[in-house]
Amino acid sequence: MPELPEVETVRRGLEPAMESARFIKVDLRRGDLRWPLPKDFAQRLEGKTVTGLGRRAKYLLADLSSGEVLLMHLGMSGSFRVSRETGNKKLGRYHHERAQQGAHDHVIFHMSSGSIVTFNDPRRFGSMKLIARAKLDDEPLLAGLGPEPLGNAFDAATLATACKGKKTSLKAALLDQRIVAGLGNIYACEALYRARLSPKRIAATVATKSGAPNERAERLVEAIKAVLNDAIKAGGSSLRDHKRTDGELGMFQHHFRVYDREGESCGTPRCRGTIKRIVQNGRSTFYCPACQK
Ligand SMILES: [Zn+2]
Repeated sequence: MPELPEVETVRRGLEPAMESARFIKVDLRRGDLRWPLPKDFAQRLEGKTVTGLGRRAKYLLADLSSGEVLLMHLGMSGSFRVSRETGNKKLGRYHHERAQQGAHDHVIFHMSSGSIVTFNDPRRFGSMKLIARAKLDDEPLLAGLGPEPLGNAFDAATLATACKGKKTSLKAALLDQRIVAGLGNIYACEALYRARLSPKRIAATVATKSGAPNERAERLVEAIKAVLNDAIKAGGSSLRDHKRTDGELGMFQHHFRVYDREGESCGTPRCRGTIKRIVQNGRSTFYCPACQK
């Protein structure tokens, strides 16, 4: 499942195609995504301008001139493809591949920028929803989300307060979207490695008894921000279905230091540990038992 850096990469890819552009035509090939799209979905978009394209956790939020917000989620296998209105009719050597892809093209936006934005999702766990901007704070999908990890509101003090007294593992705490929004399995593992903290450590140990941040909280927050920024710079990670909107692959998977590296030597200078895989809350955790304490 795409995590924050992959979704942010998609947002940046969609921005030039969608921001300040009007929906000229919306083709709805299949309205039964994770939940059914409203019957008047196309009507509510056509003629409206995207005044801003933002992101909250793993949700893309397109602000519309109508006062509604188009919320989009990639689910497990969703992707967006941006092509130009003119370049679409060429039949070349990739014709067959393209035709196959078309089977899972569910929603197509024809934008006034001249771009065609196609949402493709073989497994249909992705979703779209139209919400009144004024009611966004009450939206159940967004209401329980913790701070954005790259925002100023997320710092050592916030993390410590959220982890105070928590008996769960630190890894489980990082995956808890109420504590920090948008982190998933890969970047939680990578951040803990960079912070040299064991994923098995009790979450409460990043805070003092009174809930103040200690040095571990400082290190962890710094590591989370660093790994997310590095991953965004690399265009996200390409695992299974994640592609950028131009069809190119993100490259961050080549920079994983622990994720999916079971049995390999630890890359920390002077550490002679071997990366281990354990299962926590049903998910694989990769870490170095020698230098992550
Ligand atoms: Zn190590």
